[in-house]
Amino acid sequence: MKSVPGKPDIVLRKYRTAIFVNGCFWHGHEGCSLYSVPKSNTDFWIAKVQRNQARDQQEYKALHDAGWQVVVIWECQLKKAVLDDTMRQVEHSLSTNLLKFA
Ligand SMILES: [Zn+2]
Repeated sequence: MKSVPGKPDIVLRKYRTAIFVNGCFWHGHEGCSLYSVPKSNTDFWIAKVQRNQARDQQEYKALHDAGWQVVVIWECQLKKAVLDDTMRQVEHSLSTNLLKFA
């Protein structure tokens, strides 16, 4: 079995899709209420989140280069109020991805 680059949270081989569930703080979800830089050690936190983001981008790129589609789900998209929308979006992505490889 061919290995999948990076460490996606969910791998759907049939859809050649890797799903990442990202914590909004650790992965620096821009414009998200769950991502605000702490008031103390601000530089440290910004640098840390930027490193995480850089690693995310490398992982997504490695997956793309290996022919995988990447779907990112943010922590805030798993809240009850928006979960149905999120799942619809993911379903839509999956059906689109399936066609690409059919
Ligand atoms: Zn978020």
